[in-house]
Amino acid sequence: MATTYTVNCACGVAITELTVDELVVSTQAHAAETHELALTESDIRDMMSIDAA
Ligand SMILES: [Zn+2]
Repeated sequence: MATTYTVNCACGVAITELTVDELVVSTQAHAAETHELALTESDIRDMMSIDAA
């Protein structure tokens, strides 16, 4: 099993990726499209949880 990186957004959406880089891109896209919010990589690193399966 691979390690995954997840952000659980306040709106209930869970964004999961295999790398932090992808998670940053996906979370920034979600925040911009859904919440009109600009998140930095540092914001996302603070929000994310790491699951080592
Ligand atoms: Zn959201």
